[in-house]
Amino acid sequence: MDFQLSNEQKDIQSAAREFAEKEFPEVGPDCDANNEFPEDVWRKAGELGFVGSTIPEEHGGPGLGFLDQALILEQFWRVDPGVAQALINCSFGSELLWWFGTDEQKEKYLPAVAESRKKMGMATTEPEAGSDVSNVSTRAEKDGSDYVINGNKVMIGNATIADFVLVLCVTNPEAGGHKKWSFLIVETDTPGYDATHAEKMGTRAADLGDIFFSDCRVPEGRLLGGKEGQGFYQLMRFFDHSRAYVAAHGLGLAQGAMEQAVKHVKKRVAFGQPLAAFQDVQFTIAVMDTKIETARNLIYKACWNLDQGTVNKRLVAMAKWYGARIGVEVVDEALQLHGGYGYLKDYPIERFYRDAKVIEIYEGTKAVEKMIIAREVLGRY
Ligand SMILES: Cc1cc2nc3c(=O)[nH]c(=O)nc-3n(C[C@H](O)[C@H](O)[C@H](O)COP(=O)(O)OP(=O)(O)OC[C@H]3O[C@@H](n4cnc5c(N)ncnc54)[C@H](O)[C@@H]3O)c2cc1C
Repeated sequence: MDFQLSNEQKDIQSAAREFAEKEFPEVGPDCDANNEFPEDVWRKAGELGFVGSTIPEEHGGPGLGFLDQALILEQFWRVDPGVAQALINCSFGSELLWWFGTDEQKEKYLPAVAESRKKMGMATTEPEAGSDVSNVSTRAEKDGSDYVINGNKVMIGNATIADFVLVLCVTNPEAGGHKKWSFLIVETDTPGYDATHAEKMGTRAADLGDIFFSDCRVPEGRLLGGKEGQGFYQLMRFFDHSRAYVAAHGLGLAQGAMEQAVKHVKKRVAFGQPLAAFQDVQFTIAVMDTKIETARNLIYKACWNLDQGTVNKRLVAMAKWYGARIGVEVVDEALQLHGGYGYLKDYPIERFYRDAKVIEIYEGTKAVEKMIIAREVLGRY
């Protein structure tokens, strides 16, 4: 058993840390206040291989592993969750393209994503289909050599700023099993694609919006992989990988929140001594650190397994649930240790607190992750 990161992984980790510490603090607060996408940071991140990090080298990406991706995200979220989310959104769903896309689709879209020339998004959620993906009803009807899309997606990352979006649609309503759905690659300048911005509580540097398809005509060459009926299975495979590194959002956020709390309790004096001298404060920090280290082990293990070619659904679901949970718990305690100052906009912990909650909601809510774990433990009964 070897718990050491390789030298290459340590280099990736420190490069990500250095990049985030240099680039994020200057733009983070304004991007949050103004709901503004950090365009320059995104371009620089693409040049350094921090966007679409798992895209293979033959498709213009750095070809890193899932653990590498988690290491990068952990460092990014540690410094600024909003900017981090804005960057990761731009390659969200790219695995679907390199796993399942046709050669032409890979060539057209992947290098552009990896080099920060194009922003992408992935749209599955609808007003009546969130956790219950099998309720997705956006319809893509074949008409000659095109698909005509009608329907409505909600809460989609990059909806108003993406160049293209992978959209889960019903292509065959009569099909049995889970073969009703397919992904279509929709370029956002296609007539019939409309998006409106959605205001949110945290991670405000990242765009979010609703998409409306009205007779949106897409050539059949944009059917992901060129074969109908695969969308649901493709999405489940994606979640079984992406959730392992999305868990690192919670991990990085918790680490960053704890570091802010540590700094504050060493400086702030009450009853004649620094807060750090009180045992209750020390124990709070000890519990935070233990939760963080436990999550780190779980997340790295889940990602490491994926890099070995093993999809362990139970571990991935645990990592996502626990990483998100401790993100919320640790930032809550970290803000508490700041007292009233933590509630003021002057301190970054206020923003971290708002940024945390969504990790327990997107990419599978905590209930969905527990359903997967329980199913794996209980089996059929
Ligand atoms: C900031 C943000 C970014 C997002 N980005 C994207 C994106 O890029 N693309 C995209 O497609 N979607 C995106 N989403 C949508 C997100 O994936 C959904 O919000 C999520 O899947 C939950 O769906 P829902 O909101 O419809 O909640 P629901 O499914 O209605 O769930 C509501 C509550 O009920 C619980 N629940 C549901 N079913 C069960 C059950 N069987 N047993 C017990 N509890 C249950 C859930 O855990 C949850 O707590 C984003 C959302 C947010 C907030």
